[in-house]
Amino acid sequence: MSGQEKGPVDVDPYAPAEPEATTPVFKRLCAPSGLGTKRQLRDMGLRPGDQDPVAEVETRGPKNGLLYEITKALPVRPMTLAKEAALDKAMAARQTCGICRRRYHFVLPTSLNSCLECHDGTPADPHSYIAPPAAAHQLAA
Ligand SMILES: [Zn+2]
Repeated sequence: MSGQEKGPVDVDPYAPAEPEATTPVFKRLCAPSGLGTKRQLRDMGLRPGDQDPVAEVETRGPKNGLLYEITKALPVRPMTLAKEAALDKAMAARQTCGICRRRYHFVLPTSLNSCLECHDGTPADPHSYIAPPAAAHQLAA
């Protein structure tokens, strides 16, 4: 990557910051093979590892997608039990109705903070949720 030798550079501390070394930017679907976005790497069971992105790809969004070299990518770390538990906790919060406490198999609209059945009476498919756990007894001994 950084094979270019540059002579000593006078650094002016008051000069505006140099833009980052520019990486090539490709149009959508025109990126050379051998490069992939984080998402594409993930689909291959890989992650960028400690490599820096080598190119960018134009997206419809405000920021370009970063491209990484597939050959330098590392395998995705296996999910640990703690990670899995944290992920499940986060998902549970987004899938659980704030009123009836059913946990749905999909993410509930954040604007409601409840399921549709609680919101406007639309009956929920019984296969679309897990019944709430029996109320925990929290009486002091
Ligand atoms: Zn509900």
